[in-house]
Amino acid sequence: MIGTQPATRVRPAESDRTWTGIYQRGRQERTGVYAPPSAPLASPALYHAIGTSPVVSLIGQTPLVRLTRVAEGLPPTTAVAVKLEGFNPGGSVKDRAALSIVREALRTGALAPGQVLLDATSGNTGIAYAMLGAALGFPVQLVLPADASPERVQILRAYGAHLILSDPAAGTEGARQVARELAAAEPDRVFYADQYNNPANPLAHYTTTGPEIWQQTEGQVTHFIAGLGTGGTMMGVGRYLRERNPAVRLVGVQPDGPRHGIEGLKHLATADVPGIYDAGLVDQVTVVHTEEARAMARRLARQEGLFVGISAGAAVVAALQVAREPDTGLVVALSPDGGFKYVSAPFWRE
Ligand code: PMP
Repeated sequence: MIGTQPATRVRPAESDRTWTGIYQRGRQERTGVYAPPSAPLASPALYHAIGTSPVVSLIGQTPLVRLTRVAEGLPPTTAVAVKLEGFNPGGSVKDRAALSIVREALRTGALAPGQVLLDATSGNTGIAYAMLGAALGFPVQLVLPADASPERVQILRAYGAHLILSDPAAGTEGARQVARELAAAEPDRVFYADQYNNPANPLAHYTTTGPEIWQQTEGQVTHFIAGLGTGGTMMGVGRYLRERNPAVRLVGVQPDGPRHGIEGLKHLATADVPGIYDAGLVDQVTVVHTEEARAMARRLARQEGLFVGISAGAAVVAALQVAREPDTGLVVALSPDGGFKYVSAPFWRE
């Protein structure tokens, strides 16, 4: 159960009130995080497979590490720590959301034996569904724009997902439209997971990511920073941290326009706002330019040895801005994934 063993800590040294990162990676049992189902299960075999799956047991309990060289010059009472979600088995934070969506769908019977899980995603959520489908034994069908990066397409194929390529000019909104049409045409064959409107997405972060951050910081976190894609991470972690300490400040990160190139983030001003997103929860939205995000991803690799994705770079840019404000304390930025899926991008060479 979360709370029984400290896995990873970033805590203040009592002597000088500076922050000391203690890096320690541990995996814990997470029994008790989800309530056992009270109604009869629609898919008992698959549902129980979740509890015994070795891959599922690797999801969550990711490390939190303090930034050192990138954060030089901050006041001694301020620290920035990064939650490294690339340590999940599918390589991203979306393992948590996908697991929660699958678990809930199996519990309620929305995903029944023989049905296929369908969603529109070229990115990390698709990889997470594909991994879970392979591990638990259900088919996964994904709609993605035909210009999705070759690394992503190869990873999805490696896990055995069935891919439907949509018009690249129509982007992710176009892929969602195709998925909606497919789901409407064959409701008996398909479970449409719809990560943008599925409350099980933020629930994953309310029940796991948020409690981990609270525990790893021993309740000292003052600010939480996350990029906004579906908004699931911010909604779930934000609600949990606010319940524990209403003074915690929540900062969302946004790209500077609709064609931004920061994989995983959505420019909410020009996109369909996800049904799970509540703008009222967030204290502040910081706009980060793509070049700043890439430059920070490079610095994190070269100055911290942390090979993270571009949206993590964006979150750290925003976190360092917040950390320079007076009376900040402990800023936690979420790194959604590692840099490995972006290796073909030319900016690493700069
Ligand atoms: N960064 C990356 C790389 C992602 O894959 C995602 C998920 N879309 C996000 C950020 C945003 O996370 P969320 O959907 O929980 O807002």
